[in-house]
Amino acid sequence: MTISAHTQDKLSQNTLAEISQQNGSKAQLNWTIEDSEKLYQVQGWGEPYFSINAAGHVTVSPKGDRGGSLDLFELVGALKQRNLGLPLLIRFSDILADRVERLNACFAKAIARYRYPNTYQGVFPIKCNQHRQLVEDLVQFGQPFQFGLEAGSKPELIIALATLNTPNSLLICNGYKDREYIETALLATRIGHQPIIVLEQIEEVLLVIEAARKLGIKPVLGIRAKLSTQGTGRWGESTGDRAIFGLAIPEILTCIDQLREAEMLESLQLLHFHMGSQISAISVIKDAIREASQIYVELRSLGAKMQYLDVGGGLGVDYDGSKTNFHASVNYSMQNYANDIVAAVKEACETRQIPAPVLISESGRAIASHQSVLIFDVLSTSDVASQTPIPQAEEHSIIRNLWETYKTIKVDNYQEAYHDAIQFNQEAKSLFNLGYLSITERARSEQLYWACCQKILEITRTQDYVPDDLEDLEKIMASIYYVNLSVFQSAPDSWAINQLFPIMPIHRLDEEPTCRGTLADLTCDSDGKINQFIDLRDVKSVLELHPLRELEDTETRGRGDAEMGRWGDGGGIPKQPTTNNQQPITNNKQPYYLGLFLAGAYQEIMGNLHNLFGDTNAVHIRLTPRGYEIEQVVKGDTVTEVLGYVQYDAEDLLESVRRRTEQALQEHQITIEESQLLLQNYERSLSSYTYPS
Ligand SMILES: *Cc1c(COP(=O)(O)O)cnc(C)c1O
Repeated sequence: MTISAHTQDKLSQNTLAEISQQNGSKAQLNWTIEDSEKLYQVQGWGEPYFSINAAGHVTVSPKGDRGGSLDLFELVGALKQRNLGLPLLIRFSDILADRVERLNACFAKAIARYRYPNTYQGVFPIKCNQHRQLVEDLVQFGQPFQFGLEAGSKPELIIALATLNTPNSLLICNGYKDREYIETALLATRIGHQPIIVLEQIEEVLLVIEAARKLGIKPVLGIRAKLSTQGTGRWGESTGDRAIFGLAIPEILTCIDQLREAEMLESLQLLHFHMGSQISAISVIKDAIREASQIYVELRSLGAKMQYLDVGGGLGVDYDGSKTNFHASVNYSMQNYANDIVAAVKEACETRQIPAPVLISESGRAIASHQSVLIFDVLSTSDVASQTPIPQAEEHSIIRNLWETYKTIKVDNYQEAYHDAIQFNQEAKSLFNLGYLSITERARSEQLYWACCQKILEITRTQDYVPDDLEDLEKIMASIYYVNLSVFQSAPDSWAINQLFPIMPIHRLDEEPTCRGTLADLTCDSDGKINQFIDLRDVKSVLELHPLRELEDTETRGRGDAEMGRWGDGGGIPKQPTTNNQQPITNNKQPYYLGLFLAGAYQEIMGNLHNLFGDTNAVHIRLTPRGYEIEQVVKGDTVTEVLGYVQYDAEDLLESVRRRTEQALQEHQITIEESQLLLQNYERSLSSYTYPS
């Protein structure tokens, strides 16, 4: 097998023992939930919130280690009984609370450990997830820590001004600022906020001076520095000499001169930098903090009354659970992060005998990712090799060759057999093109070819080493799982920047997932797919999944509901009778639910309306002593709503179709029954969810 540069990287960072265990894909007779846990890396990315219970379902422990959990599969069933169709975004408020507490606890611990003579006062960057309930929850959960908000634009400032009500919390004002933005930020001090206006462009300095004078308000100002420390990874270019944002050192000095001239130098109190998001390597963070600390002490010695050091975002999330500096991972913990920042700043300030600053971070991803899970179902699957061929009496020699190959595939000859099969299949195609093979014969040769591949694939899975030329077989033979989801709406980063998210079934985890598949979404776009999955080694091109199960005869359509009607933890909500049977069962298959995890940062707002699939349904769940409660339901877009976004008026559309139908009736092109059905469906579609039910 080929090992890419980065695979080696990851290999060296993980014990080989662990990997060889992963690698041994021999079919297991007694598959256990521990096998599933290992396969999907649940501990790696999910701790302490996600695990698997004895029933083989994903469980959520929204309060982390502090107890209380619920069965995700049962929760989905309960939500479906409340007419919340899939895809469904579930947000766990308790996870959000836990993340905020965790971040603050890590800094508190680091501060105690290094005897840091000042405090940490974080802010949440609103851009990471602007949804009202989430921002409001966050402000509330952050109250004990004087946790504040960061605004990166005028609309976000508008949110922050109205939402932040924690005494002594900070309101960091970043982003492009016009006069209105600056005036609003300054006036915020009058209604009890503590705004800090961070200068990012040299033009902003004079604007701020002028506005502050006019309003007679003494501002607190910050400077965003362009560090020379080069970031790595996807957002590495957010820093370094060519970064778009921030002031280079000469510009910082100009800014100081301008402030001094305006007798406002004492307003400059904060130094900010932002290295980009998802910094995977702790070394990059260490370098940046060292450079920033030096700038900080220098600014102080130039006469600025420095009091705050804002280290921006970048605290990463371990999406693949590999604990490496791979882009989907991080090679450090939240505690390492806090320790390194606290220790470096302390040292720099002590050396120069300068008071240590209040430390601020703008961690978005690390706070918001874990709290939301997207649940979607599989609508159908397709495979290349579905049936085993049967021999027939008189056949073309090429088909006989393929048949012979198929019969004789063994562990000792599978590589040779693979090449033979490829050759015979190609010959069959040529013969067909030249008119020597009928279409039925070609179908048969293709069927035999895929059957050979399937047999060979099964052998390769039992081998510790697979020759290079057979490496792609798994990918070629993968089934396609058609899923009820728009990647563009719900996981845009997976499409735009190949970001990896943990994806796995949320039930049947006590059963070996014997299929390998990729996911195809509802959009008719060839990019509407997910074919990269987390792996300890590099990235997997196929995901282990279960075959869809037929509905058994004895099972009623409501089976899924009935099974899932039991309530987690004794139940928080009284069970309701099943009044509707809206099981999205196509082809009489039992529902098969997948979860896309750690999707709470950036995905929702960057999602788009490709093919006019709108926002998904979303619910907020909170643990209670008796189980859980549904705090809030945000219904997804209806067809009428998404059409409105592109300026169609539902009434007009309906009227237009009504008129055409009427005319067709007059001309006897349509029966009255057909016209009724058409208009009824049309009208019903307008008010329905954009996803199939
Ligand atoms: C995006 C952004 C953040 C958040 O970064 P995360 O990596 O999500 O923590 C913080 N500060 C600024 C200035 C940003 O642009």
